[in-house]
Amino acid sequence: MSEISLHILGYVRSPYKQKFAIPRQPGLIAEAIGELVLHPPFADDAIIRGIDSFSHLWLVFQFHETADKGWSPLVRPPRLGGNQKKGVFATRATFRPNPIGLSVVKFLGSYREGEKLVLKLGGIDLLDGTPILDIKPYLPYADSHPKADGGFADAAPSTDMTVSFSPEALAFCQAQRKYPELQQFIEKVLRQDPRPPYKKQKEERQSYGMTLYEFNIKWTVDENHNHVTRICELIGEPSDDSN
Ligand code: SAH
Repeated sequence: MSEISLHILGYVRSPYKQKFAIPRQPGLIAEAIGELVLHPPFADDAIIRGIDSFSHLWLVFQFHETADKGWSPLVRPPRLGGNQKKGVFATRATFRPNPIGLSVVKFLGSYREGEKLVLKLGGIDLLDGTPILDIKPYLPYADSHPKADGGFADAAPSTDMTVSFSPEALAFCQAQRKYPELQQFIEKVLRQDPRPPYKKQKEERQSYGMTLYEFNIKWTVDENHNHVTRICELIGEPSDDSN
């Protein structure tokens, strides 16, 4: 087996701190704003000259969190309830022979941060710390195929879960000023029902937790309804200076 090695251009700063709750594809939650931090020698302003005229970018990245878990020829797409197998190349599963991901994201501008060059991105589906291997502009004339067949993933996943907030959770969202869209972001994440398929079949009320940005969010699920019970700030979490 032959191998190649690739350069890591930089790392992603993402509100998604764990795989759980990340949407299945980019573009589903516009409020998922992140940054790609390019490090020297890839942080030269020249490297992105002309990029401002594009609204979207393709990112090629490593599924770093699951890269050492290997791959299998057949996977169970969550879309099919987790009980049907498809060939890995017929899916966007993370457990691939080369753990490489591909996402089209909104490009929101760039700025310098000392020796680093930062690209602002919207609608991401990337875990915090994701290593980026390539960036290419999205070309609508070549990359968009509105009449293409989407196979067993022909439409965006349903978002018919409902969401409510406890008065405390709502007050928390309004009191913090750093992320004006926090409440809407949480709502959209929960509307797409991030639970694994086997949990969805359970009938009793269940409690869940996730971290978005520096906040821990707790909610309960009762049939098709999510109720956000509590949000608290994670204090003293190690901030990731590597990216
Ligand atoms: N748009 C990409 C990703 C699809 S899989 C592609 O088609 O290649 C989507 C899942 O990737 C998300 O639900 C998230 O859990 C997972 N993911 C995102 N970043 C990851 C990372 N760095 N390592 C492992 N899994 C990751």
